Amino acid sequence: MRIVMLGPPGAGKGTQAKKIAEEFKIPHISTGEILRKAVQDNTPLGKKASEYLDKGLLVPDEIVEGIVRSRLKMHDCAAGFLLDGFPRTVRQAENLDEFLKEENVNLDIVINIQVEQRLLIERFTGRRTCQKCGATFHIKFSPPKTPGICDKCGEKLIVRRDDDIETVKKRLEVYETTTAPLVDYYDRRKLLVNVDGSKPIDDVFEDIKKVLEGVKS
Ligand code: ADP
Ligand code: ADP
Ligand code: ZN
Repeated sequence: MRIVMLGPPGAGKGTQAKKIAEEFKIPHISTGEILRKAVQDNTPLGKKASEYLDKGLLVPDEIVEGIVRSRLKMHDCAAGFLLDGFPRTVRQAENLDEFLKEENVNLDIVINIQVEQRLLIERFTGRRTCQKCGATFHIKFSPPKTPGICDKCGEKLIVRRDDDIETVKKRLEVYETTTAPLVDYYDRRKLLVNVDGSKPIDDVFEDIKKVLEGVKS
């Protein structure tokens, strides 16, 4: 299955993507995670990307497109993949379409997680992230077993540098102007399915599973 996750920042894309990837045994490709790792490791890519991430702006299309192309060419993506955080611009979506055409494959579905802005702010402010393994928690909605410690790997949890209120506002603005048009883009291609992301995490996942079972059969 080839899946794209769409939705505003904080909607729960990463949370659901991890659950889907595990259930359907496909690689989860998060451009945000790849970029944050590069910044943390201070690689040439990280050096280029960090100023954009810290300002809540999008990293230039050609950089992200290059990352995604080389990742999708890897063997583990042959039977399917789940893209989380890409595409984020119409140009990126067109670039992905070109790539898939070259590879002679199609997207199966685009899952659009819908959440009101009011709820998003609460999700950002409570988000805690593991810098080592990328696991995400929420102090109220999805707390780790031991406060401040990652359940998966035992590392300390941090607040993402771009989860402060000012940067969050910028990211929401960038979403509205630049990424939201993709809802229409994929709706016109009959690939879009909307999911109510305001429900609890497990309920959202049940809804997504039902949708995906429909695609498989
Ligand atoms: P995104 O990848 O879309 O930015 P995340 O998956 O990181 O979003 O989720 C943002 C925050 O909200 C995280 O702290 C996560 O634990 C929490 N969260 C995700 N889905 C839900 C949900 N359905 N209800 C409540 N909190 C959620
Ligand atoms: P969120 O989970 O809140 O939606 P992500 O982890 O997906 O955030 O992305 C974090 C940051 O990484 C973005 O604000 C942006 O700077 C950069 N980024 C991630 N994906 C892309 C992309 N496809 N194009 C450009 N920038 C991206
Ligand atoms: Zn961890």
